[in-house]
Amino acid sequence: MFGLKEDWSLEVPERYFTLENYAGGVARWCPSCGDHAVLSAVQKICRDEQLPPEKVVAVSGIGCSSRFPHYMHTYGFHGLHGRALPVACGVKSRRPDLHVWVATGDGDCCSIGAGHWVHALRYNMDITVMLFDNNVYGLTKKQTSPTTPQGLVTNTHPGGAWLPPLNVLQTTLGFTNISFVARTVDWNPLHLYQTLKRAYEHKGLSFVHILQRCPTYTEGIFEQFRNNPENVLLLTHENGVPADPAVAKMYKNQMEHDPADLNRARELADESGRLPIGLFYWNPNAPLYDEYLKVGMGMTQEEKKAGLEKELDRFAI
Ligand code: SF4
Repeated sequence: MFGLKEDWSLEVPERYFTLENYAGGVARWCPSCGDHAVLSAVQKICRDEQLPPEKVVAVSGIGCSSRFPHYMHTYGFHGLHGRALPVACGVKSRRPDLHVWVATGDGDCCSIGAGHWVHALRYNMDITVMLFDNNVYGLTKKQTSPTTPQGLVTNTHPGGAWLPPLNVLQTTLGFTNISFVARTVDWNPLHLYQTLKRAYEHKGLSFVHILQRCPTYTEGIFEQFRNNPENVLLLTHENGVPADPAVAKMYKNQMEHDPADLNRARELADESGRLPIGLFYWNPNAPLYDEYLKVGMGMTQEEKKAGLEKELDRFAI
């Protein structure tokens, strides 16, 4: 009969998520901080992929960027300094249905968390890791971090940072069983979005090095790349970060780089003068620890429980 619900109902999904559905608390980062751009990119990916907020978790350590989980209206875990990666691996091992975004900084990941950096990448669990690199400890007000450029005056080195900075990508590309290593910049929202989306789609641990502006403590540190796009080298390949025409137009210096070529990726990571951005390395066949966890010892929950009871019974008095 005309007028019944089946006559007029539209084919709309039961739930449709807008950006507001992923917006948590008001972001308290400084104005113009690059962290805002990364947060927007992640929220857009969640919206575009229509990820139910209850199927997403943001995990972080300590630092400015580690406030990330507070600004996502999803599950979140703001952990201890340097411990974002083991927490993220733990979450993924128990809740493989959740998509895990990790926010960590150059101090959090490459200093106190360096051991976890090596091993989480070797475990290659299906999580997306974003390393926000602003070349300084911002939360503790301008202390030298592992990536601070030599000579930069900081509160811990008033005469200028003494040691050469750690090369994040060169180091990462030396780890065992890596599967996805990319770099992008916070000031190019299209490239940032597409790199993170490509990382999100990768099955395995995707590690994205993000050059992140900190106008408060390392103002102007990336200006040579921002003001002069000729200093940026855009990596292109059919398996790489999809080339958006606007991005390709902006960066005239481009290079076809097959992300399967690890040796070339290492050479590119060592470039001085120009900044390569895009997908450095991709190996979709690297073993995932998730697969091992699925099988474990091949025992059912009941068998595990019975085994545990038996062991405990040995100590019964
Ligand atoms: Fe961002 Fe730097 Fe401010 Fe921290 S101190 S919120 S990194 S601009």
